Amino acid sequence: MSGARLKHYGWGREGEGMTAEQRAFVLGRYHAKFSREAFETKAVPHLEDLALRAPRVAPPAAFAAFCTSERYDRVAHAYGKSYPDYVRAMLGDYDCAPDVIAYPRNEAEISAVMDWAGGVSASLTPFGGGSSVCGGVEPRIDGIRYKAAVTLDLRNLGKVVEVDQISRAALIEGGAYGPSLENQLKPHGVTLRHFPQSFEYSTLGGWIATRSGGHFASLYTHIDDFVESLRVVTPRGILETRRLPGSGAGPSPDRMFIGSEGTLGVISRAWMRLQPRPTFRAGASLRFDSFFGAARAVRAIAQAGLYPSNCRILDAQEAFNTGAGDGSFAIMVLGFESGDHAPNAWMARALECCADHGGTPEAAQAGDAHLEGAAGIWRNAFIRMPYAREFLTPAGLINDTFETAITWDRFESFHD
Ligand SMILES: Cc1cc2nc3c(=O)[nH]c(=O)nc-3n(C[C@H](O)[C@H](O)[C@H](O)COP(=O)(O)OP(=O)(O)OC[C@H]3O[C@@H](n4cnc5c(N)ncnc54)[C@H](O)[C@@H]3O)c2cc1C
Repeated sequence: MSGARLKHYGWGREGEGMTAEQRAFVLGRYHAKFSREAFETKAVPHLEDLALRAPRVAPPAAFAAFCTSERYDRVAHAYGKSYPDYVRAMLGDYDCAPDVIAYPRNEAEISAVMDWAGGVSASLTPFGGGSSVCGGVEPRIDGIRYKAAVTLDLRNLGKVVEVDQISRAALIEGGAYGPSLENQLKPHGVTLRHFPQSFEYSTLGGWIATRSGGHFASLYTHIDDFVESLRVVTPRGILETRRLPGSGAGPSPDRMFIGSEGTLGVISRAWMRLQPRPTFRAGASLRFDSFFGAARAVRAIAQAGLYPSNCRILDAQEAFNTGAGDGSFAIMVLGFESGDHAPNAWMARALECCADHGGTPEAAQAGDAHLEGAAGIWRNAFIRMPYAREFLTPAGLINDTFETAITWDRFESFHD
């Protein structure tokens, strides 16, 4: 990682964020929604003004090169990025801040920190990008079994170690951030193609530990689909699963660690399946008068065995919020990609499915249509969205994502 340091409050690096114009646009939508001209806004405390308890433990001198108890590091590792996290940070509540942050440079240093933390009754929390929205990186200690908190930030383990072009897989370190991982794969003409919305500020180890789900991916959606084998530093030593293209031999050991949220060990490396970089694209935005019409079209596309890289519907309100619509119609953003052949036939069939359910295309259907029209507006808003919470929260506005899953037969009544 290079450049400015990550914000201790907010998304991304210090100095990054929405432009004044983008902020005004987002707030303008809320002013309109709630018929308010302004929102009373709280000040977020400065880093220097935050009250922090003195560290409860100090690392051995031998760890000095990769451990710290500096104020910034402790504050920046106290919380993830959920709405409640932002609220507590905004109120200056840093009671949960870890005492020591370790930035190990190899597995030996991870093991050493693990052993030391165990010896001093400190909890140990692995930390990737810290984009957790379910309390995964917040140290929670009871003062009895755990008397202090140590956080293990894996940013120094960010390399693509090896690329196997023949099997199309790569051995990648757990602390690799999304953009860096893709930049290292690019010269080899391959991609992991796993794009959670938090892609820029989350890591491979975090994706695996949380079973993250990608966008622009309706066939290989979850990180599980890409894991070939894992290497994990555990309190009992290093565990490495066998690298096989597939296995029917009993329970999968990988599965135990995928989604384990750091509770069983630290994922230091993984062999990941790759794909060729897409060179052929077809994209479209479609309007639907009825949101359920759009949902039925999605079902038809899914059940036809078409696997668009992107197939997302925005209801009229969301389309309005992002600027992709005027609030009177729903939008489907549809895209196909391939590194091997033109996906025009797939797009043509998907458009038929949409037409059957009242969808009318509003943008061109070749090449970069995913960057144009309503699809392009939505895409830009989607990428910018994470920056909104840092100013919406102090303005008293809750803006959040709620995820759920339901079988098609119950979808409409459930949605109502
Ligand atoms: C704006 C925003 C958008 C998001 N979009 C998506 C999305 O599209 N899809 C999705 O699935 N999630 C999404 N999330 C949630 C979050 O980004 C994912 O869970 C992501 O996988 C976390 O990765 P991370 O590197 O930030 O992990 P962290 O937040 O640092 O850690 C998450 C958990 O994994 C553990 N952990 C981290 N690294 C390791 C490791 N190397 N070994 C063992 N355990 C480890 C931590 O202890 C913690 O329990 C989003 C979050 C935000 C704030």
